[in-house]
Amino acid sequence: MHLPIRAVTPETESAEIIGWVHEVRDLGGLAFFLIRDRTGIIQVTIPKKKVPAEILDVARNVSRESVVRVQGTVKAIEKAPGGREIVPEELELISTAESPLPLDVAEKVPAEMDTRLDSRFLDARKPRVRAIFCIRSAVTCAATAFLASRGCINIATPKIVAAATEGGTELFPIAYFEKEAFMNQSPQLYKQMMMAAGFEAVFELGPIFRAEEHNTVRHLNEATSLDVEVSFADHNDVMELLEDLIVHVYDYVAKNCADALEELGVELAVPAKPFPRIPYAEAIEIANRTVEERLAFGDDLSPAAERALGDTVGQHYFVVDWPTDIRPYYAMPYPDRPEFCKAFDLMHPRMELSSGAQRIHDHDLLVERIGAKGLSPESFEFYLKPFRYGMPPHSGWGLGIERLVMTMLDLPNIREAVLFPRDRHRLTP
Ligand code: ATP
Ligand code: MG
Repeated sequence: MHLPIRAVTPETESAEIIGWVHEVRDLGGLAFFLIRDRTGIIQVTIPKKKVPAEILDVARNVSRESVVRVQGTVKAIEKAPGGREIVPEELELISTAESPLPLDVAEKVPAEMDTRLDSRFLDARKPRVRAIFCIRSAVTCAATAFLASRGCINIATPKIVAAATEGGTELFPIAYFEKEAFMNQSPQLYKQMMMAAGFEAVFELGPIFRAEEHNTVRHLNEATSLDVEVSFADHNDVMELLEDLIVHVYDYVAKNCADALEELGVELAVPAKPFPRIPYAEAIEIANRTVEERLAFGDDLSPAAERALGDTVGQHYFVVDWPTDIRPYYAMPYPDRPEFCKAFDLMHPRMELSSGAQRIHDHDLLVERIGAKGLSPESFEFYLKPFRYGMPPHSGWGLGIERLVMTMLDLPNIREAVLFPRDRHRLTP
C-alpha cells in the first residue's frame, strides 16, 4: 500500500508513494522530481548511473503533472522538502499529462482568474487553492454540526419553484414541462412553512440562484446559503444564534485547520462577542461622515457605505431596525413604530454576510404587506395557506457561505471560494 507523502519521514526506511509530478529537474548525473499529493511534497532523486535502465527510461519521458508511483529507499537529507528524499527502486508512470499544461501548478508562472477557472481541476491541485476548499469544508461541517447541536432539523427544500420568493427580477426561468418555473432564489418560503409544520428549528445548506446582472467580486449567480428558521424566537434570539455560529466556526477553523491557514498565510482572529448592534438610522449617519455619495433615509447601504461602516466598526456587527419599506414583505414591523421592522444584516467589515428578521406570522398582515409591495397574494397561496392553520411566531436568517469563507480568509474575489463559479459570463466548466 502506498503512503500519504506526509507520512514519509526522515526515519522511514522504504516507502511507496503515488502522486503528481510537481517539478522535474535534470542535473546531468542526477535527476530530481518533486512528487505531490494532497498531503505534501517529496523529492525523488535519481542517480542516473546507479538505477536500472527501466527507471531511467520512465524518468526521461515523464511530463509534469503526470501521475506516478514510486517505490524506494528513504534517506534523510536536509535540503529537501520535509528533510527526506526517495531513491527509487521502481518508478511507474500511471497516467500521462499532456504538455504544455494549461497553467502552472507550481505557480512559477502566475495565471489570470479566467485561465485558472477554465482548468479548475488543475488550479485546485495548488496547495493554496486546496487549502481554501479544506477550510470551506471545515466551515460547512462545523456550522451544520453546530446547528444540529442546537436542535435544528436539517431540511431540503425544492430548488425548482413556481413563484419568486420576493418577486422581482432576480430569477432564472426554466422550462418545466408545460409550466413556467424558476430556480429558487432562497429557501425562505419553504423554511417558514416548516414552522407551521411544528419543526420549531430548521436549517438547510444549499444552492440559491440569483439572476443578478452585475458582475462583481462578491456576487455569484449560483451561491451557497446556510438558512435557519426558528419558532418562538424573535430577531434578537436568532441574531444571538448567528453570532454564536460565527464565533464557533472561526474557533473551529482556528483549531482544526492550522496547516491550511498556514498555507494561506492567514492568522485567524476569532471575533469577539457580542457583535455591536447598530440601528439603521445610526449606520446611515456613520456612513455619511465619510462617503462621497450621501445616503438618504430609506436608501439601502451602498458598497461605499458598507466600507465606511466597516472601517469605523472594525469587526463583525449587525445593522438592525431597518425601514420596513426597504425590507422584504415578510419582515415583522415593530408594533409601536411600524415604519421600522425587526430585520437585521450581519456585516463583516468588508461586506454583508447575512440577512434575517423576525417574520410576520399573522396571515392578514402578511397579505397586506405582499400587496403593499405590488405583488399578488394569489401567486403566494401555497405559502399563505400555512399561515391560516396555526403559524407560530418565528425568525431566521440566510448566511452566504462563499462570503463567509471569502471574508474569513481575506480572499479578493468570491470566485476563489467556490469550485466552479457561475457568473454572468461563465457556464462551464
Ligand atoms: P447584497 O445586497 O450584498 O447583494 P442581498 O441582500 O441581495 O445581498 P440576501 O437576499 O439578503 O442578499 O441573501 C442573504 C445572504 O446570501 C447575503 O447576505 C449573502 O451572504 C448571500 N448572497 C445573496 N446573494 C448572493 C450572491 N449573488 N452571491 C453570493 N452570495 C449571495
Ligand atoms: Mg441582504
